[in-house]
Amino acid sequence: MIVEMRTGASRQEVDDVVQKAKSLDLGVQLNIGTDKTVVAILGSNTGQIPTDIFAVLPGVASVTRIMKPYKLASREFGHKDTIVDCGAVKIGGQRVVVIAGPCAVESEKQLMQAAEGVKKAGATILRGGAFKPRTSPFSFQGLQKKGLELLANVREKLGIPVVTEVVNPQDVKLVSAYADMLQIGSRNMQNFALLTDAGKSGRPVVLKRGFSCTITEWLTAADYLLAEGKNQVVLCERGIRTFEDSVRFSLDISSVPVIKRNSHLPIIVDPSHAAGHYSLVPAIARAAVAAGADGLLIEVHPNPKEALVDGLQSLSISDFTRLMEELRTIARSIGRSI
Ligand code: PEP
Ligand code: MN
Repeated sequence: MIVEMRTGASRQEVDDVVQKAKSLDLGVQLNIGTDKTVVAILGSNTGQIPTDIFAVLPGVASVTRIMKPYKLASREFGHKDTIVDCGAVKIGGQRVVVIAGPCAVESEKQLMQAAEGVKKAGATILRGGAFKPRTSPFSFQGLQKKGLELLANVREKLGIPVVTEVVNPQDVKLVSAYADMLQIGSRNMQNFALLTDAGKSGRPVVLKRGFSCTITEWLTAADYLLAEGKNQVVLCERGIRTFEDSVRFSLDISSVPVIKRNSHLPIIVDPSHAAGHYSLVPAIARAAVAAGADGLLIEVHPNPKEALVDGLQSLSISDFTRLMEELRTIARSIGRSI
């Protein structure tokens, strides 16, 4: 970290900063300018030494970290791109993976129709929420255990892996018993107890971006999962809250190349929750593949008009099938397949 002294800071104040660093076994490089002195502190391991230790000392103007606050999710830590295994499907390789299905599992018939439709169109992983994190406690909260059973049943019948959300640390074991991959939703990105338990589960995890969180906070949250010893984490950009109100959330397409530059983890994009409207989903999905996303997470319902949750942003099976054709062309043009 870099400690910048105030203009006119005394020699004693500079010495106190140096002494503090030495007492913590940290290296020091002094840069005494004509007006200002800057002290570079070396070896302050990511996150372990708080900047406040120096910021509170008299004569200090500011303290800036050089290292990123996340470590395990960083490119420096993992030079090779991580491939995540969800059942037999690999996320993060040459192939763009499409995960599709209803927002919520509603019934055996609805889930089976959705699963058959998206599989036929080329999706390789089925999504469906059994536990729903709803903004209002009065909204449909999902079929819960029954929903998990329906997901497992479809997986068995169609041989397609399933991803479903876990909203509570207490449910991690239960959800892990049914799902091939756990989803941690936007509203829970910084639920650190949930991240730790999901990391311990041994299941791969899709970590959605908190809609008010920076990319740095997102990658630092991923460190909680990775700290439990496995590298099986997929990041999912799903839009952030901005002043724009013509879409549900603003999809931050630039997070795709930024994540590729700063992290070894695969990144997928959820155009559905960003768009909030079915008519906007295909364009955002196409943009995501063009931007280099490793996959997509798309809400598809056999009858969107009857959906209990997120019907307006859900694609019908025929719209999804058409979109898959378009995505194949885009993937091919950038040297990937779907
Ligand atoms: C979902 O995938 O259905 C969901 C609730 O997403 P998010 O957490 O991104 O809002
Ligand atoms: Mn949804």
